[in-house]
Amino acid sequence: MIFDSHGRCIRYLRISVTDRCNLRCIYCMSERRICLSDLEHILTYEEIERVVRIATSLEIGFIRLTGGEPLVRREVCSLVKRLSRIPGLTDLSLTTNGTLLEPLASSLQKAGLKRVNISLDTLDEGRFSCLTRGGDLSCVRAGIYAALNAGLEPVKINVVLFADENGEPPENDILGFAEMSRNLPLHVRFIEWMPAFGEYQHNGGDGRDAMKPLSENWAKKVLSRLGKLYPYSGPVSGGPARYFRYAGAAGSIGFIAPLSAPFCGECSRLRLTSTGKLRSCLLHDGEVDLRRPMRNGATDAEIVALFLRAAQQKPASYSPEAASSASMSWIGG
Ligand code: SAM
Ligand code: SF4
Repeated sequence: MIFDSHGRCIRYLRISVTDRCNLRCIYCMSERRICLSDLEHILTYEEIERVVRIATSLEIGFIRLTGGEPLVRREVCSLVKRLSRIPGLTDLSLTTNGTLLEPLASSLQKAGLKRVNISLDTLDEGRFSCLTRGGDLSCVRAGIYAALNAGLEPVKINVVLFADENGEPPENDILGFAEMSRNLPLHVRFIEWMPAFGEYQHNGGDGRDAMKPLSENWAKKVLSRLGKLYPYSGPVSGGPARYFRYAGAAGSIGFIAPLSAPFCGECSRLRLTSTGKLRSCLLHDGEVDLRRPMRNGATDAEIVALFLRAAQQKPASYSPEAASSASMSWIGG
């Protein structure tokens, strides 16, 4: 078991399996200036498996695969299979934009994936196409149903809250997601948009300057039109979301507010970038490289020492001024 220098136990590792993506969400990836890592710097599946074996030996048993878009990486089911067999693994989950999920959901479940988070910010085809720069909403819908049918559980839908370039708050979207949580066993989480990421900062002038963050209170007000929301313990314990649900609903609604209600005090996460850097905080650029030592023959004990070093670097809390110079797609959101 490892602790950081503020007494928090590290239990959770988010692994970016690629920095590539088939979408270009306006708040995440630049359309024009995309810095992709050299392929030989991306960790192989053998290397990721080794890192996870070492992590689980330290009781870091909650593993989430993310990216970039994890499902664009070839043979991702074979990675899931390798990881799911590791003794000490408590949970194996995946975050995806859902566009490639329909044909893969069942194989992922059979390979040992337990649950999935699908990112979807709007239920309007036109808005979806604008926000993702060309994505097809029907593929995501098909992916959501495929995940439910495959028995991945729970299925969570992550919705980033913002008003886009036309300045209209997306009230119909909020109500549409609320209906989804009533009719289907889907757990919709509204997440505060974090403007403090590199690709965003370096990319003024392509539409996002007009984006406006929307608050949890605003969303709650809109949601109250459909009825009273009752506090709910949530589909799985732990995690930063606070959950509610409508009476008789099949699913639930959660809120994650990293900026207005930070949860740094309970943060138990480390992140591994696709190029093998351990990061202790989404909003802190300190990194510990695992790739070079692993490729230069480091022993497991030496890699454990690097995990401890990364944990020691974890800040007590982030400061919004200390914005990360990296993008969410590179770090692994
Ligand atoms: N491609 C996958 C997806 O979209 O789910 C996984 C990687 S993506 C970086 C992970 C999550 O980060 C998505 O839910 C996305 O909406 C979120 N995200 C990216 N940039 C963000 C930002 N600036 N603020 C809040 N969430 C952000
Ligand atoms: Fe790709 Fe996910 Fe970033 Fe959208 S949020 S560009 S899907 S990595």
